[in-house]
Amino acid sequence: MSAKIISGKEIAGTIRDELNEQVAALAKEGLVPGLATVLAGDDPASRLYVGMKNKAAAAAGIHSRQITLSDSVGETELLDLISELNADPAIHGILVQLPLPRQIDESKVLLAIDPDKDVDGFHPVNVGRLATGDPNVLAPCTPRGVIEMLVRSGVDPSGKHAVVVGRSNIVGKPMALLLLRKAAGGNATVTVAHSRTRDLGAVTRTADILIAAVGWPNTVTRDMVKPGVTVIDVGTNRVDDPSRERGYRVVGDVDFEGVSEVASAITPVPGGVGPMTIAMLLANTVEAAIRQNSGAR
Ligand code: NDP
Repeated sequence: MSAKIISGKEIAGTIRDELNEQVAALAKEGLVPGLATVLAGDDPASRLYVGMKNKAAAAAGIHSRQITLSDSVGETELLDLISELNADPAIHGILVQLPLPRQIDESKVLLAIDPDKDVDGFHPVNVGRLATGDPNVLAPCTPRGVIEMLVRSGVDPSGKHAVVVGRSNIVGKPMALLLLRKAAGGNATVTVAHSRTRDLGAVTRTADILIAAVGWPNTVTRDMVKPGVTVIDVGTNRVDDPSRERGYRVVGDVDFEGVSEVASAITPVPGGVGPMTIAMLLANTVEAAIRQNSGAR
């Protein structure tokens, strides 16, 4: 079997077109969604991600404010900035790019963000809302993007066995909670695997939907999946490639060539989950703006 490719790039493009229209309609009513991104330090990957997010926001007609702080920024200064953004009526979404410099307590900063403006969905209040199945929660962008990809490509998780490999707070855990949710795009039977899982292949072979969020190339190989599985590869890993000018290429966690011979559908890397994450950030910002404007929480 040769798997159908689920193109995140294409689906994200459709979502961004829909958002452009929604943002234009909101602007006519006098509401311009606003996103603030905070970058502390000079990590090149973080700088790149924040730049992409701001560019995408501006292209969608979202007011975007990028705040760049030095690597030596103090915790108080950062917390004061968050307070200022929480109080700013033109800002509906706040994203603090992680990781933060080591002198800053990440959990303190995430806790300081107004949960209604927490478009990353990392605030404990939103984590709790997600765990209790609140349909209006701002869910973390990457797992929300995975659900959108599944639904929009005709793969309904309802009643299926979904296996999530990875249990991070950013991807694995919220992914499992979204799949479990009693709502459209949820209702799956969910198993979460991680580095202590015994015989990972025996677990992944039972999956109808397999989501890999590990951070290591070739973690999922052809012999680890059952025929007809849908595979979503969240992994983003750099591997050396002297044939490329930049000396590396980006691959996922799944052996794409091997697994796509067995799976019914699979996401590529790049061009899979990555573009969905950004589209969902924009969607969360627009949703946050609408809710704040209507007074709903
Ligand atoms: P983390 O490193 O925080 O978590 C990785 C998870 O994988 C952990 O739960 C770990 O288990 C588990 N794991 C590690 N090795 C194995 C193994 N051999 N077998 C089974 N499980 C294993 O990573 P993230 O969740 O933040 O990210 C995962 C991947 O997704 C990365 O490649 C990241 O770059 C990518 N990513 C991509 C995004 C996108 O937009 N495309 C967005 C976010 C992340 P344990 O808990 O036991 O350590």
